[in-house]
Amino acid sequence: MTLDPIPNTPGRQAIVDIYAEALADLKAILIGVDFTTVAKTRATQKIREIEKHITALKRDNAIWAERYIPKAYKNGFHQDRELLKKYLGNEYTATFSRLQRDAAMLTAQGVMADFNIIADALEQTYVGFIKFSQFTGNKQRIAASIGKGIIEGQSRPQVSKNILDNLRNNTVDGMITVGKVTMNAKAYSDLLARTLSRAAHTEGTVNRCKQDGVDLVIITDTGAVDFCRMYENQIFSISGNSKRFPKLTYRPPYHPNCTHNLSPFISEFADEGEVEIGSQFDKADSDLSSKEMARKYKPLKQVA
Ligand SMILES: [Zn+2]
Repeated sequence: MTLDPIPNTPGRQAIVDIYAEALADLKAILIGVDFTTVAKTRATQKIREIEKHITALKRDNAIWAERYIPKAYKNGFHQDRELLKKYLGNEYTATFSRLQRDAAMLTAQGVMADFNIIADALEQTYVGFIKFSQFTGNKQRIAASIGKGIIEGQSRPQVSKNILDNLRNNTVDGMITVGKVTMNAKAYSDLLARTLSRAAHTEGTVNRCKQDGVDLVIITDTGAVDFCRMYENQIFSISGNSKRFPKLTYRPPYHPNCTHNLSPFISEFADEGEVEIGSQFDKADSDLSSKEMARKYKPLKQVA
């Protein structure tokens, strides 16, 4: 059985462009202003400008997700049409039903929420920088008015300056902090688009299987060297009712940039060898999350 490779992320360039433009706009708002000395009204006005751009960015996120995530879902839904045609014969129907459309839109809404986290984090970076600059400026003015006689100790102004420099660099580089991780917003939006499109693709394939009464699925073989290799060519049961194969608890993508995918597995078309190889997944691992799998199965050394 040949398995389709994963199609490219629909709208990938569009999302990268959206974030490149948003970052350029946000940077432009800060240019040429020293927020430690600027008047409060001017700082407030700049914050309003940032908020306007964030609102526009969220609208663009929504438009992108509604346009492209259902496409990824649909790609997954139709991915194995030839195989299913062969299996179902006259029973085969190519209809992308109302129910499927709703499921695709629901997936898009989840993606929208994930992208809005980036937008909120960007607001945090740019507004946070202005607010901290103003705060630092105020403190400097108060210290100056009290007089140089009162020494706070050299370290405190230095610490403030370091934080301010750090925040300023974040605005220049378009860095966001999500949870404990700090990363570039543009790179992160690209990663998110690719990973979430794949998740939507898989969702489409799984729902297609459910619609057609196919319970078994097989994971693609892309030659992984990370923990994902344990899933390759393995057969899972969507319902968990199979005696032979473990339940499909976790679906690809198993991690960011994961290239794996799944397809319906039709036992009638498979030979002994495929079933034999596909039965090697340790049932005890089916409840392990990606993190736990990564801990258990260290990457193999890559042969150059
Ligand atoms: Zn993978």
